[in-house]
Amino acid sequence: MEIRNCKKCNRLFQYVTGRVICPACKEEEEKVFKKIKEYLYEHPKATLVQVSQETGASIPTIKHYIREGRLIITPESPIGIECERCGTMIKTGRFCEKCAYEIERDMKKATNGLIKNSTKYTNSNLKKSKMHYLNKNKIER
Ligand SMILES: [Zn+2]
Ligand SMILES: [Zn+2]
Repeated sequence: MEIRNCKKCNRLFQYVTGRVICPACKEEEEKVFKKIKEYLYEHPKATLVQVSQETGASIPTIKHYIREGRLIITPESPIGIECERCGTMIKTGRFCEKCAYEIERDMKKATNGLIKNSTKYTNSNLKKSKMHYLNKNKIER
């Protein structure tokens, strides 16, 4: 255990794990998060600016919650976040479907290059994850 300064209010507190933020600020954040959630529930078509003004949360904070998947954005909502790779509007996560697929593919390529010696293992793994991807798509569409 160590004593550190809260990144938000600069008070000293007993740091355990995770973000460097004191219990009071954490609690405050939870309150704001609840507010955002409730506001969006009542106003599913509100814009990011509206939500920010009504809840007092900054736009980056709201976007952060969306990216983390803590805040679920309905399909009819104008709110979205940008894909970190191509900037396309998405509703959750870090990348759009296309980029997620391409990243996965590139990663597999890299993995294949690395594990030359255990080709068999890699191949069966590839098949498995590919099937998983297709199945997932089927369910979602
Ligand atoms: Zn604090
Ligand atoms: Zn993208």
